[in-house]
Amino acid sequence: MRDIRLRSLEKYRVGGTRDKMELALPVPTSPSGKVYKYSPSPDAQPRLFLIGNAPDERNIGEDERGRMRREPGPGQTVCPYSGYIGDDDDFVHADDIEAIKKHALWLAENDLSDFVGELAKDFNRRQPRGGFISMKMEHKPRRRPKPLAIREDLLRSLECEICERQYGVYALALFCPDCGAPNVALHFRREVALIGEQIALADELDQQGKSEIAYRLMGNAHEDVLTAFEATLKSVHAQLVRTHLPDQVEKILGKKAVGNAFQNVERGRKLFAKLGIDPFDGLDEAGIKHIQLNAEKRHVLGHNLGIADDHYVSFAEDLEPGETVTLIGDDIRRFADLCLSVVARLEDSLLPAPPNDESKENSGQPDG
Ligand SMILES: [Zn+2]
Repeated sequence: MRDIRLRSLEKYRVGGTRDKMELALPVPTSPSGKVYKYSPSPDAQPRLFLIGNAPDERNIGEDERGRMRREPGPGQTVCPYSGYIGDDDDFVHADDIEAIKKHALWLAENDLSDFVGELAKDFNRRQPRGGFISMKMEHKPRRRPKPLAIREDLLRSLECEICERQYGVYALALFCPDCGAPNVALHFRREVALIGEQIALADELDQQGKSEIAYRLMGNAHEDVLTAFEATLKSVHAQLVRTHLPDQVEKILGKKAVGNAFQNVERGRKLFAKLGIDPFDGLDEAGIKHIQLNAEKRHVLGHNLGIADDHYVSFAEDLEPGETVTLIGDDIRRFADLCLSVVARLEDSLLPAPPNDESKENSGQPDG
């Protein structure tokens, strides 16, 4: 009798023996070629992200190296949401393990079916012709369809500006999953670009005489700036509290402690003050005022159908109570750009600590 050969399965063999093969089967990918990853860190919310391709040779500038937390490439992965660094194996998605098992089983089933088919052929060939009794072995191969593993791309597809790794995340991620550099400004720039597109669309509709829908679209663009800004400040703040004030996490980040504080400049400032950071210190008075005014405007648009109330009028000198607040594309763009400059500055607080941080604190004198 012939030996069982698992021909299609053997194509994936990378080691071991024929009766105990070591296999390397491909992981299912999303339409854009990205692989599912699952962060092992409980601080990550959500846990799922996707990792895509990167060029074989990375062009990393010397001044950018200080922003990375690891040399990009295989070995380890960085959780984009929490910054946790672990072995690549710790980030394998359970669904992928299942999908690979199913794929291997499917290949083995087909191989066994082929093997039985060959046995039948052998048997039939060996039957004597014209004998008293004739026997024929029939084998009907039954192929199950190849198991499907569907992997979808997440809404945010990005490429790290430092190591050029492509990846996908839900909403906001703080770090590149490959080199670990803070990527929060990259994300916010993407938001600002999308908001710019919304404004252009609103302007176009307005010129076509569709002013009502144009006003709504402009309102959405305006809201998106504040939502993205609030979400970004909240994530960075939570990350810094977890890493810098670990024993106060419950007190500072507990239920109701933060709320919507980051929709308001002064309340946001107070929360960051506990970390010794003023996120707005890079802006002049006019810039801060513009952010403040637009945060108040959001409230009027969201809760008062765009009609200025007494509170809003105390911020906006050119309006009387009862008047409809204006939404001008250029103002929204300026609002978004100011928020971006705050985020870009704040990103530096997520940088890895320089290697000789402690000796520097001790007045820079070497030990001895
Ligand atoms: Zn990177």
